[in-house]
Amino acid sequence: MTVFAQWSIRWRLTGWYCAVLIPALLVLGTFVYLLVANTLAREVDARLSTTAQRVERAIRVVPSYPFPWENVVLPDVNVFSDPDTFLQAVDLSRRVVVSKSRNLGNQALPISASTLEKAAEGQRFYETLTVDGVAIRLYNVPLMLDGRLIGLLQVGSPLTHVQQALQKLRWALIFGSLGMVTVTAAVGWWMANKALRPIDQIAQVAAEIQAGEDLARRIEPPPTRDELGRLVETLNSMLERLETAYRNLAAAHQFQRRFISDVSHELRTPLTTIKGNVDLLYRMYVGRSGKGASGEESVAGAADGLAGDELDMLRDVRSEVDRLIRLVQDLLTLAQADAGVKMMLERVAVADWLPDSLRRAERLPRSEAVAFDVELEEAVLTRQHWANVDALQQLVYILLENAFKYTAQGKVTVKAREVDGGLELAVIDTGIGMPPEVMAHIFERFYRGDPARSTSGTGLGLSIAEHIIRAHQGRVDVTSREGEGSCFRVWLPLEPSCLASTGGL
Ligand code: ADP
Repeated sequence: MTVFAQWSIRWRLTGWYCAVLIPALLVLGTFVYLLVANTLAREVDARLSTTAQRVERAIRVVPSYPFPWENVVLPDVNVFSDPDTFLQAVDLSRRVVVSKSRNLGNQALPISASTLEKAAEGQRFYETLTVDGVAIRLYNVPLMLDGRLIGLLQVGSPLTHVQQALQKLRWALIFGSLGMVTVTAAVGWWMANKALRPIDQIAQVAAEIQAGEDLARRIEPPPTRDELGRLVETLNSMLERLETAYRNLAAAHQFQRRFISDVSHELRTPLTTIKGNVDLLYRMYVGRSGKGASGEESVAGAADGLAGDELDMLRDVRSEVDRLIRLVQDLLTLAQADAGVKMMLERVAVADWLPDSLRRAERLPRSEAVAFDVELEEAVLTRQHWANVDALQQLVYILLENAFKYTAQGKVTVKAREVDGGLELAVIDTGIGMPPEVMAHIFERFYRGDPARSTSGTGLGLSIAEHIIRAHQGRVDVTSREGEGSCFRVWLPLEPSCLASTGGL
């Protein structure tokens, strides 16, 4: 079933034709063969019996005692024989052939013990014997005189012709059947092809529409209004509806993108102004109060007329404004990606951006119980590739910010090495990790694995990271185990190395 199901419909239809035809031909062939064999055998038997009757009728009996053969006058059997019919009369008492047809020459028809036995019982019967490799059909007729068995008349005919005819019939049936199966398979294949060609054309056009994403294209309807015509009509109206839905969706999407882009643009300026003012206010108060011995700003001054609560509020406003600016920046980045704005890439060495990015990212907030370790392969730093340095710095920033954010204690390690002609940058942490159902969504926009939103974040970081990696023709692979940690492995293609191309030193 499984193997058969994988065949194309053409092969299956052809297979079915043959599967029905072969047994039918076998049954029919066997029936014809048996019928002919039986008819020929009956014909031979009938001919032998007629000849025997004619001989019997010609036997004359002249009463004379005591020798029975002197009383019986046999006719000249040659009169009744033909090239294919042998005749032989046997004196049963003396067990000698008393008369035989000339075509037997100096041979005689065989007389077996069982033949004599049956003849003694006065039975007329047929038998088939083989003499010198030739099958002979014999009709044995007991000759009776006054109720006494005096002899045996044997009429025989070789079966050579019958056997030859049957052999010819056998070959004719075998070759005829094979020819018929071949012709039927070819015709079946041709018919299935003809019937399925329009479906092939429909499938091809549908595939082209799908590959080219050209929903405006339609399938040419066949001239007939049969099942195929209706199928094409249904598919075309389905495509029509799809096209309309797709257009509406694209328009809505376009509108949404423009809206996000415009809003982000519009928000950026007032937010930058607010941030400037808040920073100024903050510096004014914190600056005046000065820093404590520990260097912390929290000692700011109630003494200067700003209550501790008010200072905290100012600090909150400042961090929320920072968050808003980042969110707007992230939204703008994604809106540009959606609009298809190409990222500008230049040929740089890995050393031009990676160590610097790591140095800066090291200053990201993290728990004191988290160690930070960097393992950079020296050779890979000298390798060059096409990159946007700002974007890659942002990528490092996003991955490390997450690693620090989701690791309360333990270690965050960054490893860089060359793998398969590319730079592999792995950010490994021993943090909270992720269950598989979270991992499946982390690259979606606004998705946050922590439903309680206990950590800060917008849910846009990894979407941007993925966009940056894609713009660099790279890939990212994530492995994570809940409670044990996560590993984000980014691979970015490198320019072929000079050493590699010259075979190395
Ligand atoms: P967020 O602003 O929430 O960090 P991201 O897009 O950067 O947004 O990440 C999406 C989600 O992926 C996170 O909310 C978090 O559940 C999960 N995640 C990302 N990095 C890690 C990590 N290193 N360890 C555990 N979970 C992570």
